[in-house]
Amino acid sequence: MREALFYQKADDHVVICNLCPWYCELKPGQTGICKVRENQEGQLVTHVYNQVAALGTDSIEKKPLYHFFPGKNILSIGEVGCNLHCSFCQNHHISQCYAKDFKAFHTVTSEQILITALKTKNNIGVAYTYNEPFTFYEFMLDTAKLVKEKNLKNVVVSNGYINTEPLKHILPLIDAFNIDLKAFENDFYKTFTKGKLEPVLETLKIIAAHKNHLEITNLVIPGLNDNDKIFEEMVKWIAGELGTHIPLHLSRYFPQYKLVLPPTPIEKLNQFYSTAKKYLQHVYLGNVNDEGHASTRCPNCHALLIERNHYLTKIVQNDFKGTCTACGTPAHVIMK
Ligand code: SF4
Repeated sequence: MREALFYQKADDHVVICNLCPWYCELKPGQTGICKVRENQEGQLVTHVYNQVAALGTDSIEKKPLYHFFPGKNILSIGEVGCNLHCSFCQNHHISQCYAKDFKAFHTVTSEQILITALKTKNNIGVAYTYNEPFTFYEFMLDTAKLVKEKNLKNVVVSNGYINTEPLKHILPLIDAFNIDLKAFENDFYKTFTKGKLEPVLETLKIIAAHKNHLEITNLVIPGLNDNDKIFEEMVKWIAGELGTHIPLHLSRYFPQYKLVLPPTPIEKLNQFYSTAKKYLQHVYLGNVNDEGHASTRCPNCHALLIERNHYLTKIVQNDFKGTCTACGTPAHVIMK
């Protein structure tokens, strides 16, 4: 347990947490919506400092990040808790669990994570992922500082539901983000995640303006967020506000947790792929077996640059260093 960052004290030992847009106002003994931060006698504490629920080595493509050190590995850690409550969550066993109820934590220090990252083969750094990493902000911050000092990379895979001040505080330490943009309608956020759209858009704008590497994932759920017009508005917004070079991963939905619907039809994904490609240079389909829609091509001459088959990645173009060697167009891929 550790005192939390970003909160203020009010009368009668009440605390107000400023980490995320919920601004939970907690009386002594109460726990925030994220299920990991608690008011203990007028002090906000986090129950997940040093408390790791999942640790493993993944390919960077699995985050998914396709334009950030393709073919490399990343040591990945997760804890428990989330500040959104999505009815379709793929990791609900750790994200929707109270820290105090979770029985399988491993106590792991930031120093131990760094040592493991340095020992791991073909590894570029540490990814904060699996559950919502901003709910273990304090531990992520301290670990990211050590990781950065050793010139390794920090990657955050997040729902983007965080306030501006804590986001800006950690931005200089984070090399790459994959942010979920779950829909482009506030009603969807309200009904299926319990959150709001606007803070996520703000997070995306801040990350893009700061020029951290950014990729976006959109899970396409049939009948819920697959309206053609709204989808086109979303990709136009990404292109206009964030940049046409931002990679967009369209992910196929499969039934999960509380939401049981048929999987996204492949035709719908292909249609959205075509729509998104009108505005964005790099669009990918995820959760499907489709090499053609997972590979990276030059946005200008369409030369094949990086081939992907599931999580097997091959740099195809000779001497590719992020810019197409055939025509000289940047492909916005970070290679070193
Ligand atoms: S981080 Fe947790 S406690 Fe803080 S405002 Fe968000 S949900 Fe509430």
